[in-house]
Amino acid sequence: MPGPLDGRVALVTGASRGIGRAIALALASAGARVAVNYVREEARAKELASRVGGIAVRCDVSRREEVRSMVERVESELGPIGVLVNNAGVMELMDLSSFDEAAFRRMMDVNLMGPLYVTLEALPGLKATRGAIVNVASNAAIGTAIPGSTFYAVTKAALIALTRRLAFELAPYGIRVNAVAPGWIETDMTLGGRSPEAAESARSFFRSRSMLGMTGRPEDVASAVLFLASPESAYVTGQVLVVDGGRIDYLTHGIRFAPAWPGGSPPPHRSACTAPPSASWPSSRLLSWPALPRALRTPRPVTPGA
Ligand code: NAP
Repeated sequence: MPGPLDGRVALVTGASRGIGRAIALALASAGARVAVNYVREEARAKELASRVGGIAVRCDVSRREEVRSMVERVESELGPIGVLVNNAGVMELMDLSSFDEAAFRRMMDVNLMGPLYVTLEALPGLKATRGAIVNVASNAAIGTAIPGSTFYAVTKAALIALTRRLAFELAPYGIRVNAVAPGWIETDMTLGGRSPEAAESARSFFRSRSMLGMTGRPEDVASAVLFLASPESAYVTGQVLVVDGGRIDYLTHGIRFAPAWPGGSPPPHRSACTAPPSASWPSSRLLSWPALPRALRTPRPVTPGA
């Protein structure tokens, strides 16, 4: 039976493992010929490429010259790129108090400049094929309340802005540009180097912050990417599809925080909101899973002007 991506060439960056690997498998199962990009894990990338009948291409997406060579090779061996998935990414945990400029610049280079460079180089092929671009952002960009992810979130928020602007710019060429924003997914990025106990503790933490009481698998993100890459989403562009099990700890969704205020109600006036957080923040203010139904029954009243 023909697949929705039959005859399409797909380039998936950062496809040697984790979410990118699952995306490559999903696109291949839908009929695409897949180029598997990697930067270090050559053996894993080659194994995957042979499994999906595609090619493995080494390239650091933060280096424009390497990106140019990668795109040239993909197009000469497989044909013009009709599906581009900008998945390669890195995460360095830091916030304002631990800001590390070199690490932040590295994140910007890979998470923002990488997708931009690959898009620029693949553009002629994408125009010729009236292709689809899917950028892998993060729900951190839209405000999940996890300490240490501030600057990672900034890079992904910029990627979402790029997604929306490029959707507008490229629509006249028939190119759709969308993003997925995964929540906590079990990969090397989140579990690499953790002991089994620490991994279980992380799972349990994130399960307690999901409406569905779940953590995510790479395949959960891959099926969303497949939808956005395929003609099934022909009327969808400039969108961000959040794939996070219904996270409850968004900074701007006050309802989720309501019962965690001391005494169960918000501070009486604005100045109290600006008081420094306690040492135990944010866990003392986050809901536990069993507390959620009560929270939903008693939304926090909106304080005018707050
Ligand atoms: P991962 O397991 O750490 O895998 C990262 C992938 O990116 C690897 O294939 C790696 O290649 C590749 N990569 C890293 N730097 C690269 C560079 N400069 N050039 C080319 N490839 C590079 O990460 P993941 O969890 O699958 O994450 C994939 C994407 O989803 C990232 O953009 C991440 O920010 C995003 N995301 C992840 C989560 C999560 O919870 N896991 C949540 C939200 C968003 P090598 O194997 O060759 O090193």
